[in-house]
Amino acid sequence: MGPMYQYRLSRTSRCGITRPREPLSHSPPRLVACPRQATPLSMYVFTSDHFVLPLPADHRFPMAKYAGLRKVVERVLPSHFLAEAPAVTDSQLAHAHSAAYLQAVLQGTLSPKAARRIGFPWSPALVARERRSVGGTLAGARAALVHGRGVNLAGGTHHAHPGQGGGFCLFNDAGVAIRTLQSEGLIERAMVVDCDVHQGDGTAVVFQGDASVFTVSIHGAKNYPFRKPPSSLDVPLPEGTTDATYINALEAALEQAFRAFSPDLVIYQSGVDPWEGDRLGTLALTTAGLLKRDQVVFGRCDREDVPVVVTMGGGYAPAIDDIVSLHAQTVFEALRDLWPARTGHARASLSDRLPHSRDPRATPPSTSTIAPANLL
Ligand SMILES: [Zn+2]
Repeated sequence: MGPMYQYRLSRTSRCGITRPREPLSHSPPRLVACPRQATPLSMYVFTSDHFVLPLPADHRFPMAKYAGLRKVVERVLPSHFLAEAPAVTDSQLAHAHSAAYLQAVLQGTLSPKAARRIGFPWSPALVARERRSVGGTLAGARAALVHGRGVNLAGGTHHAHPGQGGGFCLFNDAGVAIRTLQSEGLIERAMVVDCDVHQGDGTAVVFQGDASVFTVSIHGAKNYPFRKPPSSLDVPLPEGTTDATYINALEAALEQAFRAFSPDLVIYQSGVDPWEGDRLGTLALTTAGLLKRDQVVFGRCDREDVPVVVTMGGGYAPAIDDIVSLHAQTVFEALRDLWPARTGHARASLSDRLPHSRDPRATPPSTSTIAPANLL
């Protein structure tokens, strides 16, 4: 049985122009055959919301957003382009995590302290769900390498370190996805563009000292995590930062990153917690500002001719519908060029639902009831 797809490792633009790249000393074969995948590569969007994690009723994590987001996307997307995310295997997880940590997670023997740091009660369902959440990023990345874009309707688990979880993140999806694709010879170099309001500490540590991966994190200086291990490029922003300042900082960061580094793939962590009404974020981007942010990232990647996989990350608006709408805005923007008519219509109908300014619902009842820690 022959391979299902073949493509060159060197970047080929969708208009057919192949741009030469400077060779690395350890260059793998230039023509890579991608073996037949369990998940067809014609999928663009991956969901894992059917794998539900049992949480106490009063748990702070807005788990329902994943099913809500899938329902919104499902109404727009041709159904055969939306697929259940595959589960990552133990050996794929081992690309980014230590053997001791994996053993403790998989066997349910995490210490109480390690479990508290993660913030989810351990259960076999937790492990099953997180395998899918990471698998969505890996599958979305494979789709992006073929089609230019891929989307994981979960993932963005950037607080998971090689040897410990944290902030509702069990496994580091970017770490597992990038290292897996590298081990298969499908990519050499990758960039992580992390626009969640919380700094991507786990991702920074996973790739510390790894010259094949460039990590960018633009975040609230005063947000969790309070110890921020250095990314390749960190952009901490002061409390209350608004659209114009944020967009200027993002454009400058991407300019610096792409001058320094030429990736085969970008993983875009598109957390919507920099939104002005977020209960936990210290930044003040409007809904339009978040859209502009997405457009800046996608526009820059398009100009650089780099495929992008989008992961969701955090979002803690008081109303779950607002979180869903803000994430959906990003998903439709990601897919805009693939289905202009469908996503154009979806964006128009979404505009009635999107939160357009800070409203009374956005004020938390009491800041003391919401600990500004340990969140995706
Ligand atoms: Zn976050």
